[in-house]
Formats: sequence, C-alpha cells, structure tokens
Amino acid sequence: MAASMLRNLPSVSELLETRPLKPLVERVSHNVVVDGVRSFLDDLRDDIRKSTGEGSLPDATELAERIARRILQGEQSPLKPVINATGILLHTGLGRAPLAEVAIDEMTAIARDYASVELDLTTGKRSRRIEAVENLLCELTGAEAAAVVNNNAGATMLTLAAVAGGREVIVSRGQLIEIGGSYRLPAIMEASGAHLREVGTTNKTHLADYELAIGENTAALMRVHTSNYVVEGFTSSVSLEELLKLSDKHHLPVIDDIGSGAIIDLASYGIKDEPIAADCIAAGADLVLFSGDKLLGGPQCGIIVGKRKYIDQITRHPMARALRVDKITLAALVSTLRLLRDPSAAAAQIPLLQMLSTSEENLKNRAERIAVQLEATEMVACAKPVEDKAYLGGGSVPTQEIKTWCVAIEPNEYSVDKMSTRLRTGCPAIVCRVQKAQLLIDLRCVLPRQDRAIVDAFYQLSGESNPDCPA
Ligand SMILES: *Cc1c(COP(=O)(O)O)cnc(C)c1O
Repeated sequence: MAASMLRNLPSVSELLETRPLKPLVERVSHNVVVDGVRSFLDDLRDDIRKSTGEGSLPDATELAERIARRILQGEQSPLKPVINATGILLHTGLGRAPLAEVAIDEMTAIARDYASVELDLTTGKRSRRIEAVENLLCELTGAEAAAVVNNNAGATMLTLAAVAGGREVIVSRGQLIEIGGSYRLPAIMEASGAHLREVGTTNKTHLADYELAIGENTAALMRVHTSNYVVEGFTSSVSLEELLKLSDKHHLPVIDDIGSGAIIDLASYGIKDEPIAADCIAAGADLVLFSGDKLLGGPQCGIIVGKRKYIDQITRHPMARALRVDKITLAALVSTLRLLRDPSAAAAQIPLLQMLSTSEENLKNRAERIAVQLEATEMVACAKPVEDKAYLGGGSVPTQEIKTWCVAIEPNEYSVDKMSTRLRTGCPAIVCRVQKAQLLIDLRCVLPRQDRAIVDAFYQLSGESNPDCPA
C-alpha cells in the first residue's frame, strides 16, 4: 500500500502547474515555491513510510493547497505587532515600551536616508556618535558626560570592564540580582573581567562591611537597585550618601545601577521608590546606569551618565564599539528625551506615561463598552467588566500594583486556553491574561485606538464580521 502511495505522489513540476501554486511563483518566488514543494513532499513521504499504509492520498489540487498554505505561513514575518492585554506595561517578552509617534517618525526618516551619525554638518569634521544625545542626557540628569550602548546589561558589562577590569568591585549580597533569567549580576561581572567582592548578608549589609573589604585591589563600590524584589523584615542596607562618603575617603568611584531609570519623577503616576537618575547624580554618584526601554519609555538601550573622567575611560574601551547603538536607536532616543524635557509633552506623547495615567474611570467605561460588544459575539458566553491589578513589569518591583479594569470573558464552546491561543495567533495578535478559568483583557496597556481591533478579533473567532464596522 505504502509503496503504491509513494509511486502515485505527483511530481514537483506537476504540482507547480496547479491552480493554488502557479500564481504563488509570481507572488513569492520560484525558488521559495520549489523548495516549499520539495520539503512538503519529503515530509509526506516520511509520513507514508511510517504509517500503516492505510488511508488514501489527497488529489494533486488538495496537496497543492496545503503546500501553498505552508509556504504563505513561512512568508509571514515572525515579528508581529501585538496588542498587549496582559496588564504588564513593560513586558520584556513583548518588547517593553512602545514608542512615541515623534520617535517613530524620526526613526523612519533616519532609517530611509543617510544621516549625520558621526559628521558635524556645520564644520564638516568627524564627530562622536554620542554627541547627538549626550547634551540632552546631561541636561536631563545633571551629569557631566554620557554614553549609550545596546542595553543596561551592556552598560554594566562595559562599565565594569573599563573601570574595574582585573580588579575588585564591592557589592552587597542583598543586591546580587537576577532579572529575567539571562541577566545575573555575578555572571555579567565575571564576563566583564572584574572580580565580584560580595559583602554583608542577604538581609543586612552595613557600611563597615564595605569598609573592611576595601583593599589595594579595589576598583569601585557598586550599588544595584533591587528592582524586582523587596527584602522585608530584619533588614538594613547602606544608602548612596553613606556609600559616597566612604568612597570619597578611599578615592574610589561609586557605580550606581538604577535599572528602570526614571528620568522624571513618576510619583504623580503612582510609581514610587524608583530611583531618579538626576537625584543619584546630584548625590554625587560617579556613574549611573539604566535602561532606555523601561521607565524612560524609549528604545532598547543602556544609558551611562556620570563624571567625564570615567565616561572617557568607558567610551575608549574596545568593548564600547562592540556594544554601540545604531542610528535608528539614537534617533528614537533623542526624540524621547526631547519629550522628557517638558513633563506635560512627555505625559501626552510617551505611550508608557499615557497608559500609566489613564484614569480608572476611562478604563472602566471602555471595559463596559467592550464587554457588551463581546457578549454579542457567538464565541463568548459571558463578558463582564472587572476591577483588577496591573503591573509595571520589565524587572520592576512586583509589589508595585497599578489599579486597572479588565473585561473578564467566559467562552462558549472553546476552553479558555484555546480562546487565548486563537487570539494570540490571530491578526492582529492579542496576548491576554488567563486567570482562574477566565480570560482577562486588561485595558491598562491597551491604547484606545486598539479597542475596536479587539472586538473585531472576537467576531473573527467565529467567522463573523463586526456589524459595527464593515470590513
Ligand atoms: C532591567 C535591569 C537590568 C537589565 O537591563 P536591560 O536593559 O534589560 O539589559 C540591569 N539592572 C537592573 C537593576 C535592572 O532593573
């Protein structure tokens, strides 16, 4: 049986002439289609050999249709825009902060043409890549100098390599953080060539612990913001001010990894206890490190601000070239920083700040409206607005809860997991929260312009179209 099925398989050239595949050759490309047909036939032959030999072979047109679907799926970009209905604002898996429109426009313009990345257009002389953003970073943080690299992990590694390579850096045991699996401070430190000198205990570190550890081989003291956990109870840690007094006495720099890096005070947005870059510089920190795509609301990058002497050491280190950012990141960062000069412009235009400041009233109204619309679709048994908690995410304190409103959905027919999968694999992709046998659409990080796409997606689940918005 299997042998006759194998013999009866249509040939590649036969398949290429079929109705589903012929137009694809024009649309995609001859090579891609031929490769697709070959690999499909190879897989099919394997399946036939492994099978009991029962069943029948689909006809050539049906095979061609399956092949065409597989080829078209392969043509889709694996990187797709997503509607984030998880309630986690800085979701690392979803690319952290969405960008402001002006930043996007600037990136597009800079991407399309050549740009003055390392050329001073007034003098015609070569300039430094960082010049485009350094002044803004210095203005916003009060620092003497700045550097920008790929991300904060890169900023940490480069800073340690340049300032403390081959020597010791003293860090409290209470601050040896891990952020999202691949970032572990001790591992980054080791990779940089600096030696970690741990002091104190998990819950308590005193100034004397640092002082006793300082020796001939000490290069720096480092403080790391414990951004994604809190140690509660019998605790003590050393403040930046105390650390700076000690470091002054021993002529050592203090490296302050503040992580999420608020550029402006976000207390009015309900974000408390996050260090602000300018405060750390004002206190006297020699180097302050933070991410560009967390509370700053900009593109992925790592920002280093601080004393000119150390920044020069950092930018001259060979690893700086390996970690440098491209013109598109620079463009997005400049635009975002310009917005941050004016807190009201930032509030109105940086999506992260817009989402943080959306009133509960607004979220509640939208949840009510969407719930009614979803309940009218076939696949939803019940949809209700519910109050819940959203989180900042992206390596920020999990205890930092943000009030939010969700639409809680009980599906008809589908399981909650199946509905969540269908929404995730749909177009546009919607990533929701599954909680206690309910599917939650958290509106805290859904922009109002996306509400309609969410409703449409539920109509698509059952093959209907939204009566309120004909396609
Ligand atoms: C997030 C974070 C990092 C890592 O930053 P990336 O930009 O993700 O590389 C390092 N340190 C702290 C304290 C952080 O919060």
